[in-house]
This record gives sequence, C-alpha cells and structure tokens, in this order.
Amino acid sequence: MGERRWAVAVHGGAGTEVPKNKADDDALRGGIEAALAAAAAILARPEVPSVYCGAPRHLAAAVAAVEILEANPLYNAGTGAVLNDAGKVENEASVMDGATLRIGAVTGLTTVVYPVRLALLIHLKASHKFIGFRSAERYADSFPDLIERRANETFITEKRRAAQQRAAKGAGPHGARDLVDVVGETVGAVVFDAMNGGMLACATSTGGVTNKMAGRIGDTPVVGAGSYASNGLCALSGTGMGEEFLRLAAASRICGMMEYGKRSLRDSMHHVVHDIFPADTGGFIGVDAEGEIVMDGNSPYMARGSRDSDGKSFVGLKM
Ligand code: ASP
Repeated sequence: MGERRWAVAVHGGAGTEVPKNKADDDALRGGIEAALAAAAAILARPEVPSVYCGAPRHLAAAVAAVEILEANPLYNAGTGAVLNDAGKVENEASVMDGATLRIGAVTGLTTVVYPVRLALLIHLKASHKFIGFRSAERYADSFPDLIERRANETFITEKRRAAQQRAAKGAGPHGARDLVDVVGETVGAVVFDAMNGGMLACATSTGGVTNKMAGRIGDTPVVGAGSYASNGLCALSGTGMGEEFLRLAAASRICGMMEYGKRSLRDSMHHVVHDIFPADTGGFIGVDAEGEIVMDGNSPYMARGSRDSDGKSFVGLKM
C-alpha cells in the first residue's frame, strides 16, 4: 500500500430513531455510498470540474458529496429538509477550507436547491462570509447559471410535513430538548487530500430541526460549532442538537484539544462527544492531517461512511 493520497467521510445525520425496515436502511446506505463516490471521483483526478468555480480540489470534493445528499429527499438538507413552525423549509450550510481558514456560510434559504453551493460561492467570491435570509437569496440572484432555484413547496416531502405536524402537537414551545426525537439526517463531508502537504476541508448542510421556530439558526452554518477545518489538525462536520454544539463551540473545542493539548483526533472527539455532550446529543465525522478518519457519536443512530485511496471503505447507520 502506498502513501494515502486522499480520504473522505460523509454523514447523513444523527438521531434517536433507527431505520424501521430493510428498504429504508438500504436507501440511506445508498445515499451515503453515492456521496462518497462523488467526492472520490473528484479526488481521483487532477482537474476540478468548472462548476466549482476554481475551488481547490479538497473543498470541491466535500461540496460535491454534500450536494448529492442535498438532492436526496431522504436526508434533512436541500430537497426533503425538515419544516419549521411556519410549515416551510429554511435551509442552512457552511464550508471551510483548512488551507486558508476561510469560510462561507448561509442560513434562512427558502429557494436555493443546493445551499452548500451558495456557501461555496460566498467563500470564494463574497466580501462578507456569513449571509442569511433575504440577503442570501439576493446574493444567489447574482449567479443565475450556478445557483438553481425552486419554489419552497418543491422541497417539501410528505414525511416531513407529517413529522412537523406531529411535532407541533407534541413539542413544548420550541424547547430544544423537546425536539430531540425529531433531529436527524443533516448531511456533511470532510476531506483530506495529500496534495501540497495535506489539505483539509469540510462542508455541512441542513434544514435544522423539525418544527423549529422560523428564523432559528443551528450549529451547521456556525463554523466552530458544527464544523471546522484547519490544515495540520483536522476537518470536522457535526450532526445533532445544534443548541448543544453552539453553546459548547464543539468543533473548535476538538480542534483546540488537538492544537494546544496535543491530543489525537480520536481522543479529542471522544472527549467532547462522550464526556461533555449531554446524552443523545449527536456526533462528528472527522479526518486528521494524515488522512485518518474518525467518526463518533452518542446517539443510537448516525448514518456515516468513509472511503480512501487505499481502497478502505465503510458505511454504517447504528452507533
Ligand atoms: N445540527 C442540526 C441543527 O441543530 C440538526 C442535525 O444535525 O440533525 O440544526
């Protein structure tokens, strides 16, 4: 086996419910496989497809994986995302390039088909780096050829409509812990590319939590909470109860343990997920500067998978 040239991991959300039948199980695994394949296809070639607007290969690969899951109505991102308390999809996403520590983030999107692509364009081209709601939609207007748009109703699936109606009856008044049963299926990717001494990137996308208050912002677009990437350390993408990730600055805590405490990615992630997170909060996927993948969580379910240039691959749903 030669030196590892690249590695990718993706997740399709953490939650307390596990798939109830084999068909659901297979479909969720198929989604993870397809996302891994999309990233691997980019990492295997020198040229990055021009639709990624000059993004470096490691970042384009992370975005490509997330786009596959945004298009898949089974996952809580893009099409098929969960509904807020106004019965609408409000999506958010972020990207980070570990080589430059530059980010791009969006929230409150109601018409953008691939939120992570808009986050990438903000990262690459905008003078501000975290844009939300009407301003983000207006920014999307400037890229009619690159940013696909659709009416909000077209993102809504029957399953999500029913879940929101159930949650609206059962959940307390937007209490985050009341919603723990309906968290899940946020998507994310982390990538290591050995080129130029080891490049790291992450991308994450979500509709948030079912029946969230319209305007609620979770951890997914907040770099340092639900994601982080820094060359020489790690790339991380999280999933679970966003409010916990936010108050703990969870991703940046893992990176900080590595940087200042000289702990491994495995140790650092284990500490945050198992010693600091409340029960059933969720977890992370991550990759370190050698391309070593770590995936850990404290909820019963986390769809996840990984692949690397040595031919190692894994897909799992239960933790
Ligand atoms: N972290 C997401 C949020 O709270 C939800 C999830 O990962 O399923 O918005």
